[in-house]
Amino acid sequence: MSSRLFPLFTDLKNRPVLVVGGGVVAVRKIASLRSAGARVRVGSPELVDELKVLVSNNEIDYLPGKFEESWLSDVWLVVAATDDNAVNQNIAAAAEARRLFVNVVDDAELSSYQVPSVIERGPLQIAISSAGAAPMLARHIREKLEAQFDESYGSLTALLAQHRERIRQHLPVLPQRRRWFEKLLQGPVLSLLRQRQTIKAEHALLSALSQQDAQAKQGSVALVGAGPGDAGLMTLRALRLLNEADVILHDRLVSKEVLALARRDAEFIEVAKESGHHYTTQDGIHALLVEHAKAGKRVVRLKGGDPFIFGRGGEECEVLRANDIPYEIVPGVTAALACAAYAGIPLTHRDHAQSLRFVTAHCAKSEDSLDWQQLAAEKQTLAVYMGVASLERLQNKLIEHGRDASTPIALIENGSRPEQRVIVGTLENLSQRSMQHQVKSPALLIIGEVAAFANSLHWFGNTPLGAEEIQIKPSLLAAA
Ligand code: SAH
Repeated sequence: MSSRLFPLFTDLKNRPVLVVGGGVVAVRKIASLRSAGARVRVGSPELVDELKVLVSNNEIDYLPGKFEESWLSDVWLVVAATDDNAVNQNIAAAAEARRLFVNVVDDAELSSYQVPSVIERGPLQIAISSAGAAPMLARHIREKLEAQFDESYGSLTALLAQHRERIRQHLPVLPQRRRWFEKLLQGPVLSLLRQRQTIKAEHALLSALSQQDAQAKQGSVALVGAGPGDAGLMTLRALRLLNEADVILHDRLVSKEVLALARRDAEFIEVAKESGHHYTTQDGIHALLVEHAKAGKRVVRLKGGDPFIFGRGGEECEVLRANDIPYEIVPGVTAALACAAYAGIPLTHRDHAQSLRFVTAHCAKSEDSLDWQQLAAEKQTLAVYMGVASLERLQNKLIEHGRDASTPIALIENGSRPEQRVIVGTLENLSQRSMQHQVKSPALLIIGEVAAFANSLHWFGNTPLGAEEIQIKPSLLAAA
């Protein structure tokens, strides 16, 4: 079996279902079918006592004798629970011919549907299936979920069902409702239910409903750093916000892996700003943020790396503040930190670098405003963002202002991602190196003695390209 099973919860109420077999397995199957309200028909030459009782009370119908195709004539579903493999095969084939779904107990091959392992909490059902591949794992997961979602979730489901209309009236818009609900879960309701304080729990729910304050109606924005690409580098807070978001405005830089962790039914809007792909202007992004927040949505503005490092997060906050929209800011692992870590480059080092600068120099204008004298100083590491397009100027300026031409450099393309490439060299052959290996955005440039460590400390992905050419110099600091 190659394709996966399609999960389904079926309404069997008052629908005839055929169970073939009159033993203990059939008893089990019939009990669960009946609890779903199915009209069970049991066919078998003989019946165990429990089934005889059900038949004599008219709670199930009885078809005496060996399996006949005519038994299938007006049922919706079939269960083959005989202990005779040949009979089970016949039933499966006959059901298949009539396009009836059949489950042959403990025989995934013959079955056209499977019954999942189920946790029941009142009206709430959690079904788990490994499509027969790993029943033990399914059971293990089930046990974990059993512990995590105790009986109180069943009571909560019932309570919510009871007040469904009222909740809808108070909170007509879905995003509001969702927010209210998440708050409710953080409140006392679940623990009251756990203590069987049903009435108190109901009061807590109702008061949460009447308190759904102005805040609940108001949208908000979270500026969230998604990190460099490896989803494992996101913060737990970022993950939670992504799970609660109604709208996610993300940059192109945000990896698919990260986006896959977000709530599926959130609205995703890509606002590409990478040079060469000006899909949305910064003003356009501001307008989108304000528009969605004002519509009562929970907006996540998801940015590569950290929102406050070359991410224009500051400007976005200013706009939100000016529009009285509540916001929060979640830091992320910025490219410099991630690229350095994943390339084995310690950004500071007792012997080689006492300070670190985050620099961007993506156009002549931004270069002109830099203090080259200071940037060219020794014993410091430069982490250059968005530099791929202007490496030659950068290299010339730094050398011109006194940085040693043999200073090691490392270019890290797609840092922390499976396709990461690290190219090492020296300041004087920087742009040549980049062209030779056709380095593309996103790439981060690290300049400084510490870049040489990529040579010896790399651990992630491929060996750095050009590693043989550079060496760690005797300590500059020690010499000083
Ligand atoms: N706010 C982001 C930076 C945005 S500017 C952060 O904190 O990381 C975009 C630049 O970041 C890119 O041009 C590149 O220089 C760098 N960058 C972002 N992600 C990167 C990655 N995975 N690998 C290498 N460089 C990256």
